[in-house]
Amino acid sequence: MKILMMSVRDDEKEAITEWEKRNNIEVKTVDWELRLDKVEELVGYDGIVIQQRSKVEKAVYPALKAIGIKQITLRTAGYDVVDIDLARENNLVITNVPAYSPRSVAELALAHTMRLIRKLEIFDERMARQDFRWAGLQATEIHSLTVGIIGAGRIGGTTAKIFDALGAKVIAYDLVERDELKSIVDYMSKEEVLRNADVICLHVDLNQTTVDLMGAKEFELMKPTAYLINECRGPVVETDALIAALEEKKIAGAALDTLTGEENFFNFDLQNKDLPSTQLKKLRAMDNVILTPHVGFFTNIAVQNMVDISLNDVVLILNGKTSEHQVS
Ligand code: NAD
Repeated sequence: MKILMMSVRDDEKEAITEWEKRNNIEVKTVDWELRLDKVEELVGYDGIVIQQRSKVEKAVYPALKAIGIKQITLRTAGYDVVDIDLARENNLVITNVPAYSPRSVAELALAHTMRLIRKLEIFDERMARQDFRWAGLQATEIHSLTVGIIGAGRIGGTTAKIFDALGAKVIAYDLVERDELKSIVDYMSKEEVLRNADVICLHVDLNQTTVDLMGAKEFELMKPTAYLINECRGPVVETDALIAALEEKKIAGAALDTLTGEENFFNFDLQNKDLPSTQLKKLRAMDNVILTPHVGFFTNIAVQNMVDISLNDVVLILNGKTSEHQVS
């Protein structure tokens, strides 16, 4: 069996080599995405793994079928780059990695929360200009706070457990209330969570009910001392409403690992270039806003799991078995 893994970053290579050794299967790695002009380079491989920003072109599906490929395995949770109908028509099994490490994103939510409540962004900025004063920047201790989780699924549930372990009161709003969280989480309405929480962590999946879940009406309900943490998906927050809430001091600050339009700036080196987003410029100029370029997933364990789970799925499918991660 020979597997081709595309869009491989340097940080993934060690995990891939380890998997090859454990399974005695050859995995060739390349840095390019799955595109029509690359299909001829796939000849001779049995299985493929992708991870890419651009959609798989329509003509790629029959071209893969023609060279005997039976699956497209994504090593990401999202699979919107793949057309499931076209995959089915061409007998291609699609799998994803739905949960590579909820802990990785939950720990970023914790890091962002601690950074905001200790006002480290403001201290960093003061230190940089040799202003060593601290008056007016008193912090709060996490066990004295109420953390509100909106979307207590795999990642939100893990975040709830971490904050509970640190002694914070944890409240949550979700369409589904999970029995296994009820001993540590008080479920309540979205409005009650917004009114009562000192820190709001967003962990919903992106669907029709979660686009613009946080807008002007919601920011109005939050405490002026409360912080918003968004580690889930950009469109869940109306960015202009967030900027207005920050400017009008309706909330105390925000940490964002994801932002609408991020495909135009996150993961690019834009040093000394004009930023392609006015919203991003405004957020960057605020000293109570933390931005990270969608790196919640980017930890040792998560990268290892993305590699291992995707490659194990290729082997399962090529051996005629069914993967629990099949989305087609
Ligand atoms: P999940 O499906 O396990 O949990 C999502 C939860 O949101 C579910 O419990 C669901 O019932 C709830 N929900 C859905 N619609 C809702 C609504 N309208 N109101 C309230 N609750 C609602 O998903 P997950 O694996 O925990 O992932 C959560 C989010 O994290 C996703 O958006 C995913 O894209 C994102 N994510 C981000 C990173 C990163 O690097 N920052 C990495 C992985 C995942």
